[in-house]
Amino acid sequence: LVSYYIERIKASETNAVLELFEQSALERAKEIDKKVKMGTAGKLAGMVIGLKDNICFKGHKVSASSKILEGFESIYNATVVDRLLKEDAIIIARLNCDEFAMGSSNENSAFGNVLNPVQLDKVPGGSSGGSAAAVAEGLCLAALGSDTGGSIRQPASFCGIVGYKPTYGKVSRYGLLAYASSFDQIGPMTHSVEDAALILEVMAGPDEYDSTASQKPAENYAEKLDESHKYKIAYITDCFDNEGVDSEIVDRHKKLIEDLKKEGHTVEGVEFELLDYMIPNYYILTTAEASSNLARYDGAHFGFRSEDAVDIETTYVKSRSQGFGDEVKRRIMLGTFVLSAGYYDAYYTKGLKVRRLIKERTEELFKEYDFILLPTAPSTAFGIGENVDDPITMYLQDIFTVHANLAGIPAISMPIFTHSNGLPFGTQLMAKKDDDARLLAFSNTLM
Ligand code: GLN
Repeated sequence: LVSYYIERIKASETNAVLELFEQSALERAKEIDKKVKMGTAGKLAGMVIGLKDNICFKGHKVSASSKILEGFESIYNATVVDRLLKEDAIIIARLNCDEFAMGSSNENSAFGNVLNPVQLDKVPGGSSGGSAAAVAEGLCLAALGSDTGGSIRQPASFCGIVGYKPTYGKVSRYGLLAYASSFDQIGPMTHSVEDAALILEVMAGPDEYDSTASQKPAENYAEKLDESHKYKIAYITDCFDNEGVDSEIVDRHKKLIEDLKKEGHTVEGVEFELLDYMIPNYYILTTAEASSNLARYDGAHFGFRSEDAVDIETTYVKSRSQGFGDEVKRRIMLGTFVLSAGYYDAYYTKGLKVRRLIKERTEELFKEYDFILLPTAPSTAFGIGENVDDPITMYLQDIFTVHANLAGIPAISMPIFTHSNGLPFGTQLMAKKDDDARLLAFSNTLM
């Protein structure tokens, strides 16, 4: 199996894979074969997994697809990597992404863009574009991505796979290169809900290295998939009367709502007055956190140092100017601005209050409903280069995904549709905090 994936990776032309771990993957495969024969293999024996290039794997390079981490090697495993390895998963590759997970098309990578394997002239989505493309193309069975505002779900939708963002805190962030710490979650990108559930149960649970990791023990998500119930589902009406959303995506969702009703579920439209504030709120708060998190890349401690640096000042300025790409710089500047003394209250503090309102309103909805249904993204995969000069249009890609990160709730994108343009697109379900097991169980019935 590993040899099969290695051949496919070598033949691939999508640029999804930044580094193939050929030797170590083959060696591990042999060890695991022995364990299988002895009946001592772990839950994930034989599962061949790729890692987004912002997750630490001891002794291997990790760069968040940024020049600023050129040459940097990780000296420890992310908690998720430790847990996957303990259950005998095989890690085969490091996968391309948008620089520091900032983007929606994988066009912000220092290592070049990734082609969507479904249609090669299209983007794979982002920021976990390499992860989505690698799974869709069959370069690995599953991949890990990270989701701060949709980076697992939107590329999953664009490439036709399952993408799962767990409840905030369900999965340890230890060893994930931070973008916006109060939003970031690692999650699985797979072909089936079952695989996503299995990977999640291995990764989840308390971790002494991440104080924001929940104290609740991991559940056996994969065993709970069979339950079938009749649910109460809300959909946000504005998402469906919205000019910015592809009409076929709207129509197919309306049809899905009718089908769910026929199956005996209650599905009702609700208003979410705060929808228009989501994108601005997300970009104010995440850029603030990013400007702080990315301050550590100073040209002295990690990776790249400019050759033009002659003293401490030029080490910072030149290394950061030459090491970071345009989108990362834009966000560091915006984040620094909203945190600056004169504007902190006007933007950052206000942003925190808006986030609280979004959370509270969301919690209220979940008192009445089990799930919220909405599209994953407003469009199918767009053309390479189509939106690169237009950050605002790019940011609007996140309109339906940032909600889950702002509220800290779990969300999944399932590849149940194909557009008449031949491209896949997903539908999204969100559930209340810590309701991951039910969300996965119900999602499995829709696939
Ligand atoms: N597209 C969003 C952004 O650019 C989401 C990124 C993410 O989830 N990491 O910020």
